[in-house]
Amino acid sequence: MLDLAIIGGGPAGLTAGLYATRGGLNNVTMFEMGMPGGQITGSSEIENYPGQGKIMTGMELMENWPEQAMKFGLKHEMNQVNKVTKNNDIFSVQTADGKIIEAKSILLATGSRPRRAGFKGEDEFFGRGISTCATCDGFFYKNKEVVVMGGGDSAIEEAVYLSKICSKVYLVHRRDTYRAAPSTIEHMKARENIEEVSNVDVQEVYGDAMGVTGLKVKSKIDGTIIDLKVPGVFVFVGRDVLNEPLKQDDGTFLCETNEQGEVIVDLKMRTNIKGLYAAGDIRIDAAKQVVCAAADGATAAIDIIEYIG
Ligand code: NAP
Repeated sequence: MLDLAIIGGGPAGLTAGLYATRGGLNNVTMFEMGMPGGQITGSSEIENYPGQGKIMTGMELMENWPEQAMKFGLKHEMNQVNKVTKNNDIFSVQTADGKIIEAKSILLATGSRPRRAGFKGEDEFFGRGISTCATCDGFFYKNKEVVVMGGGDSAIEEAVYLSKICSKVYLVHRRDTYRAAPSTIEHMKARENIEEVSNVDVQEVYGDAMGVTGLKVKSKIDGTIIDLKVPGVFVFVGRDVLNEPLKQDDGTFLCETNEQGEVIVDLKMRTNIKGLYAAGDIRIDAAKQVVCAAADGATAAIDIIEYIG
């Protein structure tokens, strides 16, 4: 039986694994569907991770984390966790390949996935001209025009990144003010090949058998339709938490969540179920920063060591 099963291998999960094993837990496995590193590995520019003076990609930032985390005995299993249940103080972790692993404690650090915006053509053209990862797909649009949709940190940062690859970036946003940090907005405004298309609703993305050929937006001010003939559309309209492993057969969640499905935790990352913890973007009030997710992981691990005793 595991002392601790960590679900998710991003900054929260990796840091929890490091602290838990270095702090004396012997039997700790981190389940991660892909390569450890988490959603931040899709980020093209990070300039606010403390101690790192230069702008770096998410891949660069996370490069050494798995090796350091596994140095003290953390095991990594590349597997998707479908469900976590609890019976008589013991948790069962059910994986996609049908295994059931027992654990004394669980840390859910699954993070979030990109949200769909809900416009016409989004599902049809997803992966064929619509993307949620500029680092992964930006190069396909070298010297071409693209649309970036959204007004948060992700949209503005990725618009700046894409403006260095693409000939032009239309930044399409439903309001005329942005949620992003002021310094990020300043970077964006300084890029001559970013054109802001504000106060608009996306009507549809259209295309042909080869993929996207354009996007139509409607002005909220005078109803004008603007037709942007681009082969690529990058959507950054927020994220939804990945709480599926907590869903039980009767449709309820294993522990308390809020209306957005975020896990309710206390300051030690404890849920209302003894031995079940949540850390990083999956939890309520997450600042959605790498440094905060890592801190959550450490906080949870320190309490889990005490819980296991
Ligand atoms: P976000 O901050 O929630 O921004 C989402 C944006 O998409 C908002 O501008 C929103 O418009 C727009 N939007 C949402 N639904 C839409 C829809 N259906 N149609 C059109 N537009 C829609 O999401 P995010 O940028 O992914 O950031 C998530 C969190 O991670 C934030 O807390 C952010 O600060 C953090 N983050 C931090 C960094 C960093 O520090 N370097 C980098 C990336 C992300 P409205 O503004 O009108 O609501």
